[in-house]
Amino acid sequence: MFKNIRKAGSISSLISKRLNSNTVMSSNLAPLAANKVKITLRPEAERNQPIKNEDLVFGKYFTNHMLTINWDDKQGWHTPEIKPYGNLSLDPSTCVFHYAFELFEGLKAYKSLKNSEDVIMFRPDKNMARMNKSADRICLPTFESEELIKLIQELIKLDKDLIPQGKGYSLYIRPTMIGTSEGLGVHTPDKAMIYVICSPVGPYYKTGFKAVSLEATDYATRAWPGGVGDKKLGANYAPCIKPQLEAAKRGYQQNLWLFGPNKYITEVGTMNVFFAFKNSETGKKELVTAPLDGTILEGVTRDSVLTLCRDNLDPAEWEVNERYLSIDEVKERADKGELIEAFGSGTAAVVSPIKNIGYLGQDINVPLQEGKQSGKLTEDVMNWIADIQYGVVQKENWTKIF
Ligand SMILES: *Cc1c(COP(=O)(O)O)cnc(C)c1O
Repeated sequence: MFKNIRKAGSISSLISKRLNSNTVMSSNLAPLAANKVKITLRPEAERNQPIKNEDLVFGKYFTNHMLTINWDDKQGWHTPEIKPYGNLSLDPSTCVFHYAFELFEGLKAYKSLKNSEDVIMFRPDKNMARMNKSADRICLPTFESEELIKLIQELIKLDKDLIPQGKGYSLYIRPTMIGTSEGLGVHTPDKAMIYVICSPVGPYYKTGFKAVSLEATDYATRAWPGGVGDKKLGANYAPCIKPQLEAAKRGYQQNLWLFGPNKYITEVGTMNVFFAFKNSETGKKELVTAPLDGTILEGVTRDSVLTLCRDNLDPAEWEVNERYLSIDEVKERADKGELIEAFGSGTAAVVSPIKNIGYLGQDINVPLQEGKQSGKLTEDVMNWIADIQYGVVQKENWTKIF
């Protein structure tokens, strides 16, 4: 391929022209403007009624409306539209279907437990910043974060009666961006679309925590240096299902993704991962998660866990570290009785306790509290975050209430 480009001068000059015109024109393109939104309501008679809390299944039911915003490289962002939830219509040659020009986000809106009229979004600015980084990485257009947050709020307000109420219940919001250029050439998309859909969801674990078992996976790699594992690109997810099925055959629910010759722990399934140790000589405890070196998705929950633990834990008792941690260190310290907790973190479950890890044909067991499905810190972290999400505790700049 490179050879062809070098030989065919016309092609490479065409590519550079294209790049130049994009950069020059970008300043004249229309920005994303929430106040221009055009709203078309779904007729009352066709609207979905609220699903009973106990019948909710993650990502199965959707609200009555969706948000769509088109973009093209001549005009920039078009008029945002809120309209009845429904099919998209795209040409089969559209680039998203062939070359995976797709990225997404996942965040939630909660009914306040203090005032049931209030809807709370948790750190949406973090999701918007990450969405823009993902877009930039695959040459899709970036956008004004605040404007998309305003539009999502408009969308949610219309279907407010479908947001389930109660601790553990929320509205899962799925902003998505796709390249919509038609034709089979591989190049910067000249058209794109943002769309946002919303799904009422219940607690990840219906009856309190349920600790999961993991298989330490080194034969398949989720992300690598210089790759795109730190972006929420759809292309990162499909290849991870087969290793999960392999782990399931051996009785494990999720993959603990290892990387490189040192077998560093990176993430679990589609969550970030934390380990807690207690040094048997000094008695000092340490909470550890992998550093953001480009192979780790920058989880909003990860950041929230780190911040709250640094705020709330006594530094005389705890150290909170972002550092490399190998599976061999975990095994060694578990053998010494120094492993005290482990949990995954992500928007869907907030925290997900881990009970054992299959490694080299043996299980590393993670202690749980007597008669419970999690460690003490895992439980505390869950409550600290949930209290903010449901408006019980205020944390400056972490929530948008409307
Ligand atoms: C989305 C995601 C996470 C968690 O991110 P949050 O912002 O906390 O929801 C972690 N790892 C991967 C691979 C993810 O896709």
